[in-house]
Amino acid sequence: MRIGCPREIKPQEYRVGLTPHAAREAVAHGHEVLVETGAGAEAGFPDEDYRTAGARLVSTAEELFAEADLIVKVKEPQPVERKRLREGQVLFTYLHLAPDPEQTRDLLASGVTAIAYETVTDARGGLPLLAPMSEVAGRLAPQVGAWTLQKANGGRGVLLGGVPGVGPAKVVVIGGGVVGTHAARIAAGMGADVTVLDRSLPRLRALDEAFGTLFRTSYASSGNTAEQVAGADLVIGAVLIPGAAAPRLVSRAQLSEMKPGAAIVDVAIDQGGCFETSRPTTHQDPIYEVDGVMHYCVANMPGAVARTSTLALGNATMPFLLALADKGWKRACEEDPHLLAGLNTHAGHLTYYAVGRALEIDV
Ligand code: NAD
Repeated sequence: MRIGCPREIKPQEYRVGLTPHAAREAVAHGHEVLVETGAGAEAGFPDEDYRTAGARLVSTAEELFAEADLIVKVKEPQPVERKRLREGQVLFTYLHLAPDPEQTRDLLASGVTAIAYETVTDARGGLPLLAPMSEVAGRLAPQVGAWTLQKANGGRGVLLGGVPGVGPAKVVVIGGGVVGTHAARIAAGMGADVTVLDRSLPRLRALDEAFGTLFRTSYASSGNTAEQVAGADLVIGAVLIPGAAAPRLVSRAQLSEMKPGAAIVDVAIDQGGCFETSRPTTHQDPIYEVDGVMHYCVANMPGAVARTSTLALGNATMPFLLALADKGWKRACEEDPHLLAGLNTHAGHLTYYAVGRALEIDV
Protein backbone atom coordinates (compact mmCIF):
# COMPACT_ATOMS: atom_id res chain seq x y z
CA MET A 1 0.00 0.00 0.00
CA ARG A 2 1.10 3.60 -0.56
CA ILE A 3 1.11 5.51 2.74
CA GLY A 4 1.29 9.32 2.60
CA CYS A 5 2.18 11.74 5.38
CA PRO A 6 1.59 15.43 4.59
CA ARG A 7 3.00 18.43 6.48
CA GLU A 8 0.47 19.71 9.02
CA ILE A 9 -0.97 23.06 7.95
CA LYS A 10 -3.24 23.93 10.91
CA PRO A 11 -1.78 27.03 12.62
CA GLN A 12 0.60 26.22 15.51
CA GLU A 13 0.59 22.49 14.80
CA TYR A 14 4.18 21.29 14.95
CA ARG A 15 3.62 17.55 15.25
CA VAL A 16 3.79 15.11 12.33
CA GLY A 17 1.68 12.01 11.69
CA LEU A 18 4.53 9.62 10.90
CA THR A 19 7.94 9.39 12.61
CA PRO A 20 10.98 8.15 10.69
CA HIS A 21 10.85 5.02 12.94
CA ALA A 22 7.28 4.30 11.82
CA ALA A 23 8.21 5.02 8.20
CA ARG A 24 11.02 2.45 8.46
CA GLU A 25 8.64 -0.20 9.85
CA ALA A 26 6.08 0.46 7.13
CA VAL A 27 8.77 0.12 4.45
CA ALA A 28 9.92 -3.14 6.08
CA HIS A 29 6.33 -4.39 5.79
CA GLY A 30 6.59 -3.86 2.04
CA HIS A 31 4.73 -0.54 1.79
CA GLU A 32 5.70 2.54 -0.13
CA VAL A 33 5.93 5.60 2.12
CA LEU A 34 5.56 9.17 0.81
CA VAL A 35 6.39 12.11 3.08
CA GLU A 36 5.88 15.76 2.17
CA THR A 37 9.11 17.78 2.25
CA GLY A 38 9.59 19.45 5.64
CA ALA A 39 6.74 17.46 7.27
CA GLY A 40 8.80 16.46 10.31
CA ALA A 41 11.03 19.55 10.57
CA GLU A 42 9.16 21.26 13.44
CA ALA A 43 9.22 18.04 15.48
CA GLY A 44 12.97 17.69 14.92
CA PHE A 45 12.84 15.08 12.12
CA PRO A 46 14.67 16.38 9.03
CA ASP A 47 13.81 15.09 5.54
CA GLU A 48 17.05 13.13 5.54
CA ASP A 49 15.81 10.90 8.40
CA TYR A 50 12.79 9.88 6.32
CA ARG A 51 14.93 9.29 3.23
CA THR A 52 17.26 7.07 5.29
CA ALA A 53 14.21 5.19 6.58
CA GLY A 54 13.31 4.35 2.96
CA ALA A 55 10.56 6.93 2.40
CA ARG A 56 10.16 8.99 -0.77
CA LEU A 57 10.06 12.77 -0.26
CA VAL A 58 7.32 14.54 -2.21
CA SER A 59 7.48 18.29 -2.71
CA THR A 60 3.78 19.22 -2.69
CA ALA A 61 0.72 18.19 -0.69
CA GLU A 62 -1.31 17.95 -3.93
CA GLU A 63 1.03 15.27 -5.24
CA LEU A 64 1.00 13.39 -1.94
CA PHE A 65 -2.79 13.33 -1.58
CA ALA A 66 -3.17 12.33 -5.24
CA GLU A 67 -0.77 9.38 -4.97
CA ALA A 68 -1.42 7.95 -1.47
CA ASP A 69 -3.93 5.17 -0.69
CA LEU A 70 -3.71 5.89 3.05
CA ILE A 71 -3.14 9.35 4.52
CA VAL A 72 -1.74 9.51 8.07
CA LYS A 73 -1.88 12.88 9.87
CA VAL A 74 -2.24 14.52 13.27
CA LYS A 75 -4.96 17.17 12.98
CA GLU A 76 -8.31 17.07 11.22
CA PRO A 77 -7.96 17.86 7.50
CA GLN A 78 -8.26 21.58 6.80
CA PRO A 79 -10.69 22.77 4.04
CA VAL A 80 -7.98 22.78 1.35
CA GLU A 81 -6.94 19.24 2.34
CA ARG A 82 -10.53 17.98 2.39
CA LYS A 83 -10.91 18.93 -1.28
CA ARG A 84 -8.05 16.53 -2.08
CA LEU A 85 -9.61 13.45 -0.39
CA ARG A 86 -11.44 10.86 -2.48
CA GLU A 87 -13.49 7.67 -2.29
CA GLY A 88 -11.31 4.57 -1.88
CA GLN A 89 -8.72 6.52 0.09
CA VAL A 90 -8.25 5.97 3.86
CA LEU A 91 -7.66 8.88 6.25
CA PHE A 92 -6.18 8.08 9.69
CA THR A 93 -5.97 11.11 12.03
CA TYR A 94 -7.68 13.04 14.86
CA LEU A 95 -11.05 14.24 13.52
CA HIS A 96 -13.32 15.38 16.43
CA LEU A 97 -16.35 15.49 14.11
CA ALA A 98 -19.14 15.95 16.70
CA PRO A 99 -18.70 19.73 17.09
CA ASP A 100 -17.67 20.21 13.42
CA PRO A 101 -20.58 19.89 10.94
CA GLU A 102 -18.65 21.58 8.13
CA GLN A 103 -15.79 19.06 8.24
CA THR A 104 -18.28 16.18 8.54
CA ARG A 105 -20.14 17.38 5.43
CA ASP A 106 -16.89 17.65 3.46
CA LEU A 107 -15.66 14.19 4.49
CA LEU A 108 -19.01 12.66 3.52
CA ALA A 109 -18.95 14.49 0.18
CA SER A 110 -15.41 13.25 -0.53
CA GLY A 111 -16.36 9.60 0.05
CA VAL A 112 -13.14 9.03 2.02
CA THR A 113 -12.90 6.23 4.61
CA ALA A 114 -12.02 8.21 7.73
CA ILE A 115 -10.76 6.53 10.88
CA ALA A 116 -10.56 8.89 13.86
CA TYR A 117 -7.78 8.43 16.43
CA GLU A 118 -10.02 9.69 19.23
CA THR A 119 -12.67 6.98 18.88
CA VAL A 120 -10.38 3.94 18.58
CA THR A 121 -10.84 1.92 21.78
CA ASP A 122 -8.93 -0.71 23.77
CA ALA A 123 -9.89 -3.83 25.70
CA ARG A 124 -9.99 -1.95 29.04
CA GLY A 125 -12.49 0.62 27.78
CA GLY A 126 -9.79 3.26 27.27
CA LEU A 127 -8.93 5.44 24.28
CA PRO A 128 -5.39 4.36 23.36
CA LEU A 129 -4.79 7.08 20.76
CA LEU A 130 -5.96 9.90 23.06
CA ALA A 131 -4.12 8.65 26.15
CA PRO A 132 -0.59 9.62 25.01
CA MET A 133 -1.65 13.25 24.55
CA SER A 134 -3.33 13.25 27.98
CA GLU A 135 -0.09 11.87 29.43
CA VAL A 136 1.85 14.69 27.80
CA ALA A 137 -0.61 17.42 28.89
CA GLY A 138 -0.74 16.01 32.41
CA ARG A 139 3.03 15.97 32.81
CA LEU A 140 3.29 19.45 31.31
CA ALA A 141 0.64 20.96 33.61
CA PRO A 142 2.79 21.30 36.79
CA GLN A 143 5.67 22.62 34.65
CA VAL A 144 3.54 25.45 33.15
CA GLY A 145 1.79 25.92 36.50
CA ALA A 146 5.15 26.45 38.22
CA TRP A 147 6.06 29.01 35.55
CA THR A 148 2.69 30.78 35.92
CA LEU A 149 3.27 31.05 39.69
CA GLN A 150 6.47 33.03 39.12
CA LYS A 151 6.25 36.70 40.10
CA ALA A 152 7.21 38.08 36.68
CA ASN A 153 4.29 36.16 35.16
CA GLY A 154 1.76 37.61 37.60
CA GLY A 155 1.89 34.68 40.02
CA ARG A 156 2.33 34.77 43.78
CA GLY A 157 6.01 34.02 43.59
CA VAL A 158 5.85 30.57 45.18
CA LEU A 159 8.25 27.74 44.34
CA LEU A 160 6.43 24.42 43.94
CA GLY A 161 8.93 22.41 45.96
CA GLY A 162 9.74 25.05 48.58
CA VAL A 163 13.27 24.89 50.07
CA PRO A 164 14.64 23.58 53.37
CA GLY A 165 12.91 25.66 56.02
CA VAL A 166 10.13 26.88 53.66
CA GLY A 167 7.14 24.66 52.94
CA PRO A 168 6.08 23.55 49.44
CA ALA A 169 3.23 24.95 47.33
CA LYS A 170 -0.20 23.37 47.67
CA VAL A 171 -1.33 21.82 44.38
CA VAL A 172 -4.89 20.59 43.85
CA VAL A 173 -5.68 18.40 40.84
CA ILE A 174 -9.38 18.08 39.96
CA GLY A 175 -9.94 14.80 38.08
CA GLY A 176 -7.72 11.76 38.68
CA GLY A 177 -7.81 10.19 35.20
CA VAL A 178 -4.90 10.07 32.76
CA VAL A 179 -4.14 13.82 32.84
CA GLY A 180 -4.68 14.09 36.60
CA THR A 181 -2.54 11.07 37.49
CA HIS A 182 0.40 12.29 35.44
CA ALA A 183 0.00 15.87 36.71
CA ALA A 184 -0.09 14.69 40.34
CA ARG A 185 2.94 12.47 39.89
CA ILE A 186 5.07 15.24 38.41
CA ALA A 187 3.87 17.90 40.89
CA ALA A 188 4.66 15.55 43.78
CA GLY A 189 8.02 14.76 42.16
CA MET A 190 8.76 18.50 42.12
CA GLY A 191 8.17 18.47 45.88
CA ALA A 192 4.72 20.07 45.99
CA ASP A 193 2.02 19.13 48.50
CA VAL A 194 -0.52 17.49 46.17
CA THR A 195 -4.19 16.51 46.56
CA VAL A 196 -6.17 14.77 43.81
CA LEU A 197 -9.96 15.17 43.76
CA ASP A 198 -12.24 12.81 41.84
CA ARG A 199 -15.92 11.82 41.88
CA SER A 200 -15.05 8.17 41.28
CA LEU A 201 -14.21 6.21 44.44
CA PRO A 202 -12.75 3.29 42.45
CA ARG A 203 -10.44 5.80 40.76
CA LEU A 204 -9.38 7.28 44.10
CA ARG A 205 -8.77 3.76 45.45
CA ALA A 206 -6.63 2.86 42.44
CA LEU A 207 -4.56 6.05 42.87
CA ASP A 208 -4.13 5.40 46.57
CA GLU A 209 -2.97 1.85 45.91
CA ALA A 210 -0.59 2.85 43.12
CA PHE A 211 0.97 5.93 44.68
CA GLY A 212 0.62 5.44 48.44
CA THR A 213 1.65 8.58 50.30
CA LEU A 214 3.15 10.40 47.30
CA PHE A 215 -0.05 12.49 47.18
CA ARG A 216 -3.42 12.62 48.96
CA THR A 217 -6.76 11.70 47.41
CA SER A 218 -10.00 13.39 48.33
CA TYR A 219 -13.63 13.02 47.21
CA ALA A 220 -14.77 15.79 44.83
CA SER A 221 -18.02 16.83 46.53
CA SER A 222 -18.82 20.44 45.63
CA GLY A 223 -18.13 21.65 49.18
CA ASN A 224 -14.79 19.86 49.43
CA THR A 225 -13.76 21.05 45.95
CA ALA A 226 -14.49 24.69 46.93
CA GLU A 227 -12.52 24.30 50.18
CA GLN A 228 -9.50 22.68 48.51
CA VAL A 229 -9.46 25.27 45.71
CA ALA A 230 -9.56 28.17 48.19
CA GLY A 231 -6.44 26.87 49.96
CA ALA A 232 -4.41 26.05 46.84
CA ASP A 233 -1.48 27.85 45.22
CA LEU A 234 -2.04 25.95 41.97
CA VAL A 235 -5.19 24.17 40.74
CA ILE A 236 -5.03 21.84 37.74
CA GLY A 237 -8.36 21.12 36.01
CA ALA A 238 -8.33 17.60 34.54
CA VAL A 239 -11.93 16.35 34.50
CA LEU A 240 -13.68 14.60 31.64
CA ILE A 241 -17.21 13.42 31.16
CA PRO A 242 -16.92 11.33 27.97
CA GLY A 243 -18.82 12.82 25.06
CA ALA A 244 -19.90 15.92 27.00
CA ALA A 245 -18.64 19.41 27.76
CA ALA A 246 -16.49 19.67 30.90
CA PRO A 247 -18.57 20.39 34.03
CA ARG A 248 -18.06 23.88 35.46
CA LEU A 249 -16.78 22.93 38.92
CA VAL A 250 -15.34 26.24 40.12
CA SER A 251 -17.48 29.40 39.93
CA ARG A 252 -16.15 32.93 39.67
CA ALA A 253 -17.26 33.54 43.27
CA GLN A 254 -15.20 30.53 44.43
CA LEU A 255 -12.24 31.74 42.36
CA SER A 256 -12.27 35.06 44.21
CA GLU A 257 -11.72 33.10 47.47
CA MET A 258 -8.31 31.98 46.16
CA LYS A 259 -5.08 33.64 47.28
CA PRO A 260 -3.96 36.62 45.18
CA GLY A 261 -1.52 35.42 42.51
CA ALA A 262 -2.63 31.79 42.79
CA ALA A 263 -2.69 29.96 39.44
CA ILE A 264 -4.99 27.61 37.58
CA VAL A 265 -4.06 25.38 34.65
CA ASP A 266 -7.30 24.27 33.00
CA VAL A 267 -6.25 21.26 30.92
CA ALA A 268 -9.94 20.47 30.30
CA ILE A 269 -10.25 23.70 28.30
CA ASP A 270 -10.44 21.67 25.07
CA GLN A 271 -13.85 20.47 26.36
CA GLY A 272 -14.89 23.96 27.49
CA GLY A 273 -12.94 24.05 30.78
CA CYS A 274 -13.93 23.34 34.37
CA PHE A 275 -13.60 26.90 35.73
CA GLU A 276 -16.30 29.49 35.02
CA THR A 277 -13.59 32.01 34.15
CA SER A 278 -11.66 29.80 31.66
CA ARG A 279 -11.33 30.75 28.00
CA PRO A 280 -8.97 29.11 25.48
CA THR A 281 -5.51 30.67 25.06
CA THR A 282 -2.56 29.95 22.77
CA HIS A 283 1.12 29.11 23.24
CA GLN A 284 1.92 32.66 22.02
CA ASP A 285 -0.22 34.29 24.72
CA PRO A 286 -0.92 31.53 27.26
CA ILE A 287 -1.96 33.31 30.47
CA TYR A 288 -4.41 35.96 31.66
CA GLU A 289 -5.67 37.19 35.03
CA VAL A 290 -9.18 37.20 36.52
CA ASP A 291 -9.83 38.54 40.04
CA GLY A 292 -6.13 38.25 40.90
CA VAL A 293 -5.87 34.58 39.81
CA MET A 294 -3.60 33.69 36.88
CA HIS A 295 -5.18 31.38 34.25
CA TYR A 296 -3.28 29.11 31.82
CA CYS A 297 -5.79 27.62 29.36
CA VAL A 298 -3.93 26.43 26.26
CA ALA A 299 -6.19 24.11 24.30
CA ASN A 300 -3.39 22.18 22.54
CA MET A 301 -0.79 21.80 25.29
CA PRO A 302 1.04 18.83 23.64
CA GLY A 303 2.03 21.16 20.77
CA ALA A 304 4.51 22.85 23.14
CA VAL A 305 6.57 19.67 23.22
CA ALA A 306 6.01 18.63 19.60
CA ARG A 307 8.87 16.15 19.49
CA THR A 308 7.87 14.20 22.61
CA SER A 309 4.22 14.34 21.51
CA THR A 310 5.00 13.12 17.99
CA LEU A 311 7.03 10.19 19.32
CA ALA A 312 4.34 9.32 21.90
CA LEU A 313 1.54 9.50 19.33
CA GLY A 314 3.61 7.52 16.81
CA ASN A 315 4.16 4.69 19.32
CA ALA A 316 0.40 4.44 19.84
CA THR A 317 -0.72 4.76 16.20
CA MET A 318 1.90 2.48 14.62
CA PRO A 319 0.30 -0.93 15.26
CA PHE A 320 -3.04 0.31 13.90
CA LEU A 321 -1.38 1.97 10.92
CA LEU A 322 0.47 -1.24 10.06
CA ALA A 323 -2.73 -3.28 10.41
CA LEU A 324 -4.56 -0.90 8.07
CA ALA A 325 -1.74 -1.00 5.53
CA ASP A 326 -1.05 -4.76 5.74
CA LYS A 327 -4.66 -5.97 5.66
CA GLY A 328 -6.56 -3.09 4.05
CA TRP A 329 -9.02 -1.09 6.17
CA LYS A 330 -11.89 -3.55 5.71
CA ARG A 331 -10.18 -6.69 6.96
CA ALA A 332 -8.27 -4.76 9.64
CA CYS A 333 -11.57 -3.40 11.02
CA GLU A 334 -13.35 -6.76 10.70
CA GLU A 335 -10.60 -8.43 12.73
CA ASP A 336 -10.27 -5.68 15.35
CA PRO A 337 -13.45 -4.20 16.87
CA HIS A 338 -11.35 -1.54 18.60
CA LEU A 339 -10.06 -0.23 15.28
CA LEU A 340 -13.59 -0.52 13.86
CA ALA A 341 -14.71 1.83 16.66
CA GLY A 342 -12.51 4.44 14.98
CA LEU A 343 -14.42 4.30 11.68
CA ASN A 344 -16.32 7.61 11.35
CA THR A 345 -17.12 7.91 7.63
CA HIS A 346 -17.07 5.56 4.64
CA ALA A 347 -18.12 6.15 1.02
CA GLY A 348 -20.37 9.07 1.89
CA HIS A 349 -21.96 7.43 4.95
CA LEU A 350 -21.53 8.47 8.57
CA THR A 351 -20.57 5.36 10.56
CA TYR A 352 -20.25 6.69 14.12
CA TYR A 353 -23.41 7.00 16.24
CA ALA A 354 -22.30 9.73 18.66
CA VAL A 355 -21.40 12.03 15.76
CA GLY A 356 -24.72 11.26 14.05
CA ARG A 357 -26.59 12.09 17.24
CA ALA A 358 -24.66 15.33 17.77
CA LEU A 359 -25.12 16.52 14.19
CA GLU A 360 -28.56 14.96 13.53
CA ILE A 361 -27.29 12.97 10.54
CA ASP A 362 -28.47 9.39 9.85
CA VAL A 363 -25.86 6.74 10.63
P1 NAD B 1 -9.97 10.70 31.91
O1 NAD B 1 -11.31 10.19 31.48
O2 NAD B 1 -8.82 9.77 31.96
O3 NAD B 1 -10.11 11.34 33.37
C1 NAD B 1 -11.14 12.22 33.73
C2 NAD B 1 -11.39 12.08 35.21
O4 NAD B 1 -12.31 13.11 35.60
C3 NAD B 1 -12.03 10.74 35.61
O5 NAD B 1 -11.25 10.08 36.58
C4 NAD B 1 -13.40 11.14 36.16
O6 NAD B 1 -13.84 10.31 37.22
C5 NAD B 1 -13.11 12.56 36.65
N1 NAD B 1 -14.30 13.40 36.82
C6 NAD B 1 -15.40 13.49 36.04
N2 NAD B 1 -16.27 14.38 36.55
C7 NAD B 1 -15.69 14.86 37.70
C8 NAD B 1 -16.11 15.80 38.68
N3 NAD B 1 -17.28 16.42 38.60
N4 NAD B 1 -15.25 16.05 39.71
C9 NAD B 1 -14.05 15.42 39.80
N5 NAD B 1 -13.62 14.50 38.89
C10 NAD B 1 -14.44 14.23 37.86
O7 NAD B 1 -9.66 11.97 30.97
P2 NAD B 1 -8.21 12.57 30.65
O8 NAD B 1 -7.64 11.85 29.50
O9 NAD B 1 -7.47 12.64 31.91
O10 NAD B 1 -8.59 14.02 30.13
C11 NAD B 1 -8.94 15.07 31.03
C12 NAD B 1 -9.22 16.34 30.24
O11 NAD B 1 -8.01 16.84 29.65
C13 NAD B 1 -10.18 16.13 29.07
O12 NAD B 1 -11.05 17.24 29.00
C14 NAD B 1 -9.27 16.11 27.87
O13 NAD B 1 -9.95 16.48 26.68
C15 NAD B 1 -8.28 17.16 28.30
N6 NAD B 1 -7.02 17.23 27.53
C16 NAD B 1 -6.59 18.47 27.19
C17 NAD B 1 -5.40 18.65 26.54
C18 NAD B 1 -4.93 20.05 26.23
O14 NAD B 1 -4.00 20.20 25.45
N7 NAD B 1 -5.51 21.08 26.83
C19 NAD B 1 -4.62 17.54 26.18
C20 NAD B 1 -5.06 16.25 26.53
C21 NAD B 1 -6.27 16.11 27.22
